[in-house]
Amino acid sequence: MTILKDIILQLFFAHMPFVMFSVYYRDQSRNYTQKFIAFSSMICLFLSMTFGASVVSGYFYDIRYTIMFFGLIFGGIQTGFALLAEFLLYRLYIGGDGTLAAMLIMLVTFPGSYLLYRLYRKCEQKSLILLIAGVFFSVTPLLFVYLENPESVIRHLSFHLFVIPMQNLVGCWLLITLFRKAATDKELFISYGQNERVRAISHVAASLVHEVRNPLTAVKGFLTLIRDGAADRGRIERYIEICMSEIARTEYILSEYLAISKPIGDKQEPTDLEELLRITKDVMSPYANMHNVLLEIGHPPEPVWILANPDKMKQVLVNFIKNAVEACAEVPHSRGKVTLRLQVEARKVTLTIQDNGVGMTEEQAKRLGSIYFSTKSTGTGLGMTFSYQAILSFGGTINVQSEPGGGTRFTISLPIYARNEEAKERDE
Ligand code: ADP
Ligand code: MG
Repeated sequence: MTILKDIILQLFFAHMPFVMFSVYYRDQSRNYTQKFIAFSSMICLFLSMTFGASVVSGYFYDIRYTIMFFGLIFGGIQTGFALLAEFLLYRLYIGGDGTLAAMLIMLVTFPGSYLLYRLYRKCEQKSLILLIAGVFFSVTPLLFVYLENPESVIRHLSFHLFVIPMQNLVGCWLLITLFRKAATDKELFISYGQNERVRAISHVAASLVHEVRNPLTAVKGFLTLIRDGAADRGRIERYIEICMSEIARTEYILSEYLAISKPIGDKQEPTDLEELLRITKDVMSPYANMHNVLLEIGHPPEPVWILANPDKMKQVLVNFIKNAVEACAEVPHSRGKVTLRLQVEARKVTLTIQDNGVGMTEEQAKRLGSIYFSTKSTGTGLGMTFSYQAILSFGGTINVQSEPGGGTRFTISLPIYARNEEAKERDE
């Protein structure tokens, strides 16, 4: 019974890197780092060795080889050596009759793990390599212990022949397969997220063409008038003024559009939400116009600082506005309206995005933010996933009120960055 408990405990440790990855990287749109692998596998090794199973005093059986193999696969050779060092020090500290055997076994299993790791990277049949690794990690210690102390192996034959191989095989499979699956899912999510950005941007670009064409038509008209010589000097100057301002506006919109479509970094910095709203309005207005939707944005006249990644925050605003415009466009024969309000409260800033579009059922509203949830025939359901994750990573919250046919209201709360107060204190 105790043995069974020990095994379950070891298999529980085999889940640890996977669980830590799922918790720590849940709200992040990036994949694991080498540091993360080193950290999680070192904790895992420590716990596994501390609570190892033992039937002969001084000999401990845990999933150390499996953890090292995991460290090598995902963290590379440096992580492998860090784990080896941890093992050597900790095993010497624990001591007991089996210390020498443990060191000798490691002398064989570590280079063996390295070879298997090279094979694992190259080979397509990863499950086969895991099976070979599981068998190798079970047979090698058994052989050494048998050579050193055959009687102990024969006395606990079922433990050595069944329990240890099972612990290693299942441990290997759990630790490496589960983690690989989680990492691949994350990778897919990141690449889908990037494609979604390209998709959103290309939609907005189509409407932008109209926005650029209008001023060009105006400029062409005025130039024709000037060329025909129908106007006096004063008028010509006024025409040129108008042309200049139209061109300046086109230039501004194009440059803001380029700023929105540039790749997104990870850095968070003090960001002026009021300025972002202004920029997003300029970029999204043509899209709203094209769908016959009125876009209104109300915000305080002074900057509103939050700690966020400005590129991500811009993309979040684009996603919310785009959905709101699309929801309005789905309601036939009505003038759609999307209103954004930015309000500053004591410690937080609240942004509401309200539309009079199709709305959502309670069930749909609950599923918002979960990956691939979309009610549109060509939708991806990634815009809201990205936005929810980004807002959470800035320490914010999102609330949604919606009714089918009654429009939708999103309320986003974000902590205010204290820069305003610092600046005020400095001014006083
Ligand atoms: P997509 O727009 O590609 O469908 P999103 O993640 O942007 O993906 O949105 C997911 C779903 O959430 C949409 O398909 C829609 O059903 C719903 N949704 C989001 N915003 C609104 C809104 N303002 N009004 C109504 N439904 C919305
Ligand atoms: Mg969308």
